[in-house]
Amino acid sequence: MVEQKSRFRPSRRLLLGATVVGGAALWGGTTLARLARGPSAPKDAGRIADVDGIALPLKPLANPPSFDTSLPWLAKGGDLNDASGLSRTPVYGVVEVSEESHVTNALAFARANGLKVSLAAVRHSMGGHAFDDNALVLDLRKFNRVSVDAAARTMTVQPGACWHDIQNILHPRFAVKAMQSTDIFSVGGSLSVNAHGMDHQAGSVAGSIRSMRVMLADGSVTTCSSSENGDLFRHVVGGYGLFGVVLEATLDIVDNAVYRTSREIIRSDDFPKFFTEVLEPNRQIGLFYGHLSTAPGNFLEDMIVYRYDKVADAPPADQPAIGEPGSVGLKRLVMNLAKRGSLFQELKWFTERTLEPKFESCTVARTAAMGEGEACLVTRNNPMHDSVPYLFNDLAGETDILHEYFIPRAAYGPFIAEARAILRNQSLPVLNASVRVVHKEDIALTYAPEPAFALVLYINQPADEQGNASMRTLTRALIDATIRHGGRFFLPYQLHYTAAELRASYPDLPAFLAAKLRYDPAELFSSTFYRAIKALGGIA
Ligand SMILES: Cc1cc2nc3c(=O)[nH]c(=O)nc-3n(C[C@H](O)[C@H](O)[C@H](O)COP(=O)(O)OP(=O)(O)OC[C@H]3O[C@@H](n4cnc5c(N)ncnc54)[C@H](O)[C@@H]3O)c2cc1C
Repeated sequence: MVEQKSRFRPSRRLLLGATVVGGAALWGGTTLARLARGPSAPKDAGRIADVDGIALPLKPLANPPSFDTSLPWLAKGGDLNDASGLSRTPVYGVVEVSEESHVTNALAFARANGLKVSLAAVRHSMGGHAFDDNALVLDLRKFNRVSVDAAARTMTVQPGACWHDIQNILHPRFAVKAMQSTDIFSVGGSLSVNAHGMDHQAGSVAGSIRSMRVMLADGSVTTCSSSENGDLFRHVVGGYGLFGVVLEATLDIVDNAVYRTSREIIRSDDFPKFFTEVLEPNRQIGLFYGHLSTAPGNFLEDMIVYRYDKVADAPPADQPAIGEPGSVGLKRLVMNLAKRGSLFQELKWFTERTLEPKFESCTVARTAAMGEGEACLVTRNNPMHDSVPYLFNDLAGETDILHEYFIPRAAYGPFIAEARAILRNQSLPVLNASVRVVHKEDIALTYAPEPAFALVLYINQPADEQGNASMRTLTRALIDATIRHGGRFFLPYQLHYTAAELRASYPDLPAFLAAKLRYDPAELFSSTFYRAIKALGGIA
């Protein structure tokens, strides 16, 4: 008798089910891996960015001069884009500056051949601020020497130095006084927008500048500060590279103080009260960061307040190197999932509220003198050393755009209510929202003619015409709300504003443009941004 083997024969339905589940798992795994992956190349979706009613692209040069072989060319011809990935622009060429003589010679070559010059560093501006059609671009990133004068408590830096590298040089004894809330930017790019960040007492970078050496369009070099050649100083700081090349800056540095970290959740509406009762009077709070909820359930209603209270002027002598941010893939995944619907936006807020504190690294060993029990201690350099790698992704069809709106302090509540309504009634995902404190800034094109609170937004859009149109509509609505409340919008970002919005926000623009022609009559220094604000400002 032949023994019958019992054979398992899966039904067609089971096979189908297994295929669907396996396929879904594979698709899910591949999708999650894609969302968690870092960039394989810089974003470059072409030239999508535009300005209302103004043709930005210029015709190619009819007779481009031949390249001066004595200059260190990084590129002859080609094009450049910025962090938006939407501003691809053909340029004459790119000179890689590492010595002052490269700047002198490049400007002379440009003057002799009728070329425009644009100044570029990390190119994190988002509206063609660092290049122009057919321009000779100075790439300043390798012009980056740093020297520290411990006795004077200053550092003298070339403009291509970026805060990340500077912090590694200053650590463990010293720290940067004023910079952005992340460390990925150059000093030149930061002075040129008058950047500001987490130190609400120090305010913007302008307040940390002892002096600067600036090369003007005619090749002469001038030293300026708030007390020497003050008019030039007020135009170079926040002057978007239109008045001269910052060759060197001497900046204040401060102690790398030890802070006790803490966080609390408050209602966004209570922030002005928190500011006047807690933040402003307490000089021991060295850094502060206000992070608003972007979850649909409490959108811009709850706020995590991160505070850093000083407990010592300096860390122990054996303080380790600063270290880099951890859990990058996971943070990038959570950020990118948040672009895909409410559930994931709630998940992001949940992780920020409850999980992140558990992964906080406390970098300073407690000493008896600090007497801080179980507190988490860090040095000033730790929270300021954030190069936000999780913000950069490999999603080519989309881009994330920064916005910042400065609101007179008394108008904060009603403005946030309006911004909340505007942002709720549109479809682009809001990835981050934070609140900053800025002081009155006395520079020519100031974003803060009076003390202000700033709302900073990071918003995702498709990298195409349609996405750009949605972002334009949203930006204009937010700018209009800002103007209604007596505020101003920040200029390093996209050029979506109308002429009326620009003039209402920056009534000092005509004087700024007139000063530009005084310092640079032939308009040697140019950029797409310059041509846009000039046209919108009513100057042909
Ligand atoms: C993700 C993200 C976060 C940001 N966070 C903050 C923040 O917290 N606070 C804040 O204030 N801003 C913030 N910004 C804006 C940022 O500060 C500006 O875009 C800054 O200019 C970027 O520096 P950069 O080195 O990339 O400069 P670039 O984009 O290369 O250049 C910016 C401008 O500086 C000019 N420039 C560069 N070098 C020189 C020089 N040597 N001399 C004269 N002009 C020069 C250029 O011509 C250009 O007009 C943020 C931007 C992004 C994308």
